[in-house]
Amino acid sequence: MSVLPIDHLEKIEGWGGAVSSFGYVYRPATVEGLREVFELARRSNRNITFRGSGRSYGDAALGAENIVLDTSRMNRILSWDPNSGIITMEPGVTIEQLWQYIIEDGWWPPVVSGTMYPTVGGCLGMNIHGKNNFKAGPIGEHVLSFDIMLPSGEIKTATPDSESELFYSAISGFGMFGVFTSITMQMKKVYSGLLHVKAWTTKNLHELFEIYQQHIPGSDYLVGWVDCISSDEKLGRSIVHQANYFKPGEDQNPAQSLRVSNQSLPNTILGIFPKSFVWMLLRPFTNNAGMKFINWLRVFVSRLPVVGKPVYEQSHAEFAFLLDYVPGWKKSYGQGGLIQYQSFIPKESAEKVFRKQIEMCQEAGLPPYLGVFKQHKPDKFLFTHSVDGFSLALDFKVTEKNREKLWSLCAKMNDVVLANGGRFYFAKDATLRPQDFKAFLGEETLKKFAELKKRYDPENILQTDLSRRLVL
Ligand SMILES: Cc1cc2nc3c(=O)[nH]c(=O)nc-3n(C[C@H](O)[C@H](O)[C@H](O)COP(=O)(O)OP(=O)(O)OC[C@H]3O[C@@H](n4cnc5c(N)ncnc54)[C@H](O)[C@@H]3O)c2cc1C
Repeated sequence: MSVLPIDHLEKIEGWGGAVSSFGYVYRPATVEGLREVFELARRSNRNITFRGSGRSYGDAALGAENIVLDTSRMNRILSWDPNSGIITMEPGVTIEQLWQYIIEDGWWPPVVSGTMYPTVGGCLGMNIHGKNNFKAGPIGEHVLSFDIMLPSGEIKTATPDSESELFYSAISGFGMFGVFTSITMQMKKVYSGLLHVKAWTTKNLHELFEIYQQHIPGSDYLVGWVDCISSDEKLGRSIVHQANYFKPGEDQNPAQSLRVSNQSLPNTILGIFPKSFVWMLLRPFTNNAGMKFINWLRVFVSRLPVVGKPVYEQSHAEFAFLLDYVPGWKKSYGQGGLIQYQSFIPKESAEKVFRKQIEMCQEAGLPPYLGVFKQHKPDKFLFTHSVDGFSLALDFKVTEKNREKLWSLCAKMNDVVLANGGRFYFAKDATLRPQDFKAFLGEETLKKFAELKKRYDPENILQTDLSRRLVL
């Protein structure tokens, strides 16, 4: 391994701030620039890690001692057809850029994450899901084609029908086969900038499942916030939000509601606190007692007739990007940061498994401070995290003192997930062990992975801290 210029050396963190490493960061703006970075890696005998916006919670976009190839400057929209809703873009285009570019023509990205800052390339790397996964599938199902540069420098074009093996493995392939250089996607037609939103509160986890069963068929989006601190008969009490598209002609003023300026997230919370300071107000509450109070407050407010209106209208951006309301909210978790633990469980055992997980966390004295519940459907991408069932994403505060205990709690929860045929998601992971990786993917997928890696990256140049933790 030869020495690289020291001014490229940067400490890079996973989004949660709980894991980090030092890598040599390069940010090319063109395809030629990408190729030069590949050549540099070969000359210097270094591995390469791809990185978009670095919004994966753990170590998926970190590469200790590697060349970290950051694609965020490759962010041009290459073509857009407002009649068909087909867009071609570079991989560093963010979801924010994308929706802002297309919405005034009456289109919206078919799948978005809870934050608008990831890049489209990074979203394909993980094959992200939205609050509509049960209906729309993951983002990969809306990709018409992509160009990908392999470590050899060759660029291949893949569609669901040609180079389909590459198509179904590079999407979801956590940066293990090549770097997307251009992506063509089908957007979703919308007839208003607004959504019809309905909210329900449930007394416990069982009622949450009941609400889902009743309302999934009539929902375009459905998401549940779960209180993971309450116990006994209140264990898993929740607030569920449903959002549905407007039908054609229903919005009398679509040109107005579709304007980017009418989508913006409010600058204040509850009309009082400037958003940029809110994380400071949250900081004294990011402990077990404080979060118990916050959770109680959320449920209380959601039941107030004035604030907690059960039926209302909200812009797409407000509904989709709830987590962007409070900029820098992760800073309220303090220096140790946070991890997210998301497991996906088949519908038959999901209620039992999530109850068990919440109980295990409470017994360990490590209750999650945020729980998010979604319904999913299976997809055919190689490293799919999805199942015909549900997921629960749990946010944990990390401190120097609790770190070991937290990792061991996650390992125990993994055993429960695996015993029930569940799956995991690399975008959210920091704690999986190699045996969990093997068990959830299964022998056939691992064999295919080895075969494809040999075909597209025979020298194993593409590595991340996550792949080294789990695969090697
Ligand atoms: C607040 C918050 C909310 C979130 N909500 C959701 C959610 O609702 N649903 C969901 O599914 N996810 C969610 N996520 C996770 C996030 O959407 C994914 O981690 C996504 O992959 C981040 O994109 P990125 O551009 O930051 O990619 P990075 O995190 O930088 O990279 C992700 C992976 O893609 C690879 N990669 C990046 N660029 C390329 C490229 N051009 N070519 C090939 N590989 C590449 C990287 O090597 C890495 O393995 C959330 C994250 C946060 C922080």
